[in-house]
Amino acid sequence: MSSMDQLYQQLILEHAKSPHGKGLRAGGSGESFQVNPTCGDEVRLRVHLAPDLAGAAGPVVERVSWEGQGCSISQASLSVMADLVEGVPMATAEGLGETFRELMHSRGKGLDEDAEDALGDATAFTGVSQYPARIKCALLGWAALRDALAQAGTPDPDVAPGDVAPDQEDR
Ligand code: ZN
Repeated sequence: MSSMDQLYQQLILEHAKSPHGKGLRAGGSGESFQVNPTCGDEVRLRVHLAPDLAGAAGPVVERVSWEGQGCSISQASLSVMADLVEGVPMATAEGLGETFRELMHSRGKGLDEDAEDALGDATAFTGVSQYPARIKCALLGWAALRDALAQAGTPDPDVAPGDVAPDQEDR
């Protein structure tokens, strides 16, 4: 094992031990529940958006909160992701998710320097991409984030405005 691998291993273990963003918070702009049946990982994740005060880049991810259980890789990946997307525009968070999916399909080779810079600590999971059985563990949180962002971006078609706030319905 190279020293780089050990460093990465350490980072994953530390995040798994005290995961960031863990503990569902009230509210939230979108929520998703995801399971990885092959490993038994599961997560319920909420994305909390805030309006972008500069007004240009759309809503900003104020915070990600989640509750879940599973293997160290799934828990650590959720934790690193929560750190990474906090405070970035929603579109940037979606882009980071795409980049992380590319990393997980790199078969251990990693990505170019710009992509890895953007992913920061999430590049610690590069080694995981060599193990097809574990890729879904690392992607669980990102799948939940993508889904939660989609929920946040699109009003639920099944819910009529009157169902949300019947007291304020115009008559
Ligand atoms: Zn797992």
